Order: sequence, then C-alpha cells, then structure tokens
Amino acid sequence: MRQIRIGDVTISSIIERDGPWRAPQDMFLNYDAAKAQRLLSTMEPEGIDPATGKLVITYQTFVVQTPNHTMLVDTCTGEDKGWEAPMDFDKTPWKNGFKELGLKLDDIDYVFCTHLHIDHCGWNTTLVNGKWVPTFPKAKYVFHKREYAAWEALHGQDAEDKRSKTWKMNCEPVVAAGQALLVDDDYQLDNCVTLSPTPGHSPCHCCVNIHSGGQRASVTGDMMHHALQCRDPEMSTVFDWDPVAAAVSRRAFLTSVADTSTMLLPIHFPSPTVGRVTTRPDGAFDWKYLR
Ligand SMILES: [Zn+2]
Repeated sequence: MRQIRIGDVTISSIIERDGPWRAPQDMFLNYDAAKAQRLLSTMEPEGIDPATGKLVITYQTFVVQTPNHTMLVDTCTGEDKGWEAPMDFDKTPWKNGFKELGLKLDDIDYVFCTHLHIDHCGWNTTLVNGKWVPTFPKAKYVFHKREYAAWEALHGQDAEDKRSKTWKMNCEPVVAAGQALLVDDDYQLDNCVTLSPTPGHSPCHCCVNIHSGGQRASVTGDMMHHALQCRDPEMSTVFDWDPVAAAVSRRAFLTSVADTSTMLLPIHFPSPTVGRVTTRPDGAFDWKYLR
C-alpha cells in the first residue's frame, strides 16, 4: 500500500506476507462457485490469482502516525511462536518494513488489536531468555476486554487450543507487564481513535477508526477477508467464531460507511489495500480500491 494521509495522520503498511494463498472453497462456508465466479467477473482483479484461482491474501500491520503518537494496528504472526507451515512466515519482510519506516521498538506508543487471532497479535511479544515479553517497551496495548476474556476463558478449558495458546503467548504477558488497556466499546484516544464493535469473526472483534481533519479511515481487521464479501455480505468464513453474527456485523458496518468518504483498510486485502464502498441497487456493496 502506498502511504495515505488523512488530516494530520499518516498511515503506512508493513507487509509480513502476500500473494496467492487459499482456494476460495477452503475459505468460505457454503461456497457457491458459480455465484462467486459471476461476481468476480465484474470486480477489480486484485483479489484472485488468475493462474491458480486462489484468493490473494496479504498479512500486514498498519502504522498510524499522528502529531502525538505512533501506533500499530494488528501485529501479524510474529516470531518464535512455533506455528506450523504454512503459518511459519519468513520474519525478514516485517522486520525490514518496520526499519524502512525509520521506526525503533521504543517509538511505538500504542498497539491496537482488532481481535486476538494468531495473525493479528503476533509481534505483540518477543521471546527473551525463554520468556514472552512485550516487544514494544513503551507502548500501551489496547485490547477489547471481552475479546481478551473470551480467549482467557478458552485457555482455562483447553490450554492446547491454537487460539488459547495465542492468548497465552501474545496477550497475557502484556497484561502481566502492566502495559495493557482492557477497554470497552466506547474507548477513545485523543478524539483520534475510536472502535466499532463488529463481533462474529471473533467474540468481540472491533474495527479501529482513525479520525483527523474531518476525515476518517477504518482498519477493518477481519470484518471481511476479501472484496467478494462486499458483493455478498452473507459470505462468512471457516475462521469465524459465529458466522451468522459475522455476516450481521459486516452488513451493518458496510452500511454505515457506504457512500461516505471513509477509507477502509482491511488487513488481508492485497495492494493497493485501501478502498471505499458504495451501495449497489441489489442492497450489496461495491468495493473500489483507491489507486
Ligand atoms: Zn481473524
């Protein structure tokens, strides 16, 4: 993604991994190939690899630089987590991307996580002498308190579940270090950042809205994984905690931003990543990349 600017704020992306990834039928529940093909034929081409038919999926962190703060939104899969292939991504691109923006670990004031899945909170912590510690020593980490509590509870029931292991490695050490802000739906930072609860993909997934100079951008996390979900908001994925609730949240959120100037930054959309949505006559939405 090129850098974008809204008001006094600059938003950049650090890519951990991109390119063709999953077959659509492995991603979406009740996948209707004929319908998807029809929709895709009238959409912008970035989302599908023509050679393989696979979805093109990026894993990235957004860096939000305001006059007062430097923030990260979602922190990819991280390092030393022990995830098996294909989630054992090369760590070099993310580290290089962070450096290329001229950032040092000490520079990060806030880390926001839209939700606490393995590819959204990985760089939250680093392994030092066998112990997980916050990667960004001066940062406050903002987690929705009910999202945090849900994965903590799962850990109590099943410590080997991949999602509860994620909480144990990437989130619990941040709270233990006193660096977490466990917040509710109405959290605001400096009139610059607000949250839009969009539960369903995870227990309390939130989009992270950035406001400046009368403009608005929103990091939409995994509220959607692919532009197909604008054309058919009922398409939920195999990764959704509650697929029905995910579809309800998706439609409500897209309705709230459609036909406005709000720029959307979905974590998994390939370059140029940022786009807007408009309402279609059939009640669904058109996704258009800002180029
Ligand atoms: Zn997710």
